[in-house]
Amino acid sequence: MIEIMDLTKRYDDLLVFEAFNLSIPDGEISCILGPSGCGKSTLLNIIAGLITYEKGEIIGVEHKKFSYIFQDTRLLPWGTAFENVFFALISLYHKDEAKEIANYYLDLVGLGEYKNYYPNQLSGGMKQRVSVARAFAYPSDILLMDEPFKGFDLELKNNLIDEFLKIWEENQKTVLFVTHDLEDAQKIGKNFFTIMTEMGLSIQN
Ligand code: ADP
Ligand code: MG
Repeated sequence: MIEIMDLTKRYDDLLVFEAFNLSIPDGEISCILGPSGCGKSTLLNIIAGLITYEKGEIIGVEHKKFSYIFQDTRLLPWGTAFENVFFALISLYHKDEAKEIANYYLDLVGLGEYKNYYPNQLSGGMKQRVSVARAFAYPSDILLMDEPFKGFDLELKNNLIDEFLKIWEENQKTVLFVTHDLEDAQKIGKNFFTIMTEMGLSIQN
């Protein structure tokens, strides 16, 4: 369980969370839904330990390995699509195995022919797919996905959702899936958390 307790987060004068609480079950896919600007990315960044907060406690993230599909695909600009996935794996596997896994996930997201392209040679959607491949390939405990399928065409999105659910069935890791698309959330998730944050209120259903 990831427990967020009594969280307060502000950016200068902007109060994003106040006395915010959320319990996220282990081993399940939980969806975080909410309109643009309500604090979804902020929440993931806090859970991943990437940004600070004023008050509160987060339990259940200690010693956990995260993979994170950022809303703004953070690829290494000096690495090819292949290298972006491969370098995330090389400290964990033998070189040949890392290569095989990287190729497998790049094929899965339909980038087999673009493995040797650099990020600046790829479209926004393709960069996003590299980021998806990298996150799926990395053997994390917790997968954070921030609107990972935004801008994908419907067919690719539905294929990736199916593939994702198959991958997930095998390892059943804890997944936090952020979206503003109720349909995507319903396809993927089991638990739904709606953030309506001005008041830092979370409704669980
Ligand atoms: P969401 O992901 O739900 O669209 P964000 O978490 O990105 O929302 O942002 C929540 C609010 O905080 C927004 O009003 C946004 O403009 C603001 N915000 C986000 N990041 C920063 C930052 N680094 N500095 C100042 N304000 C920020
Ligand atoms: Mg966001």
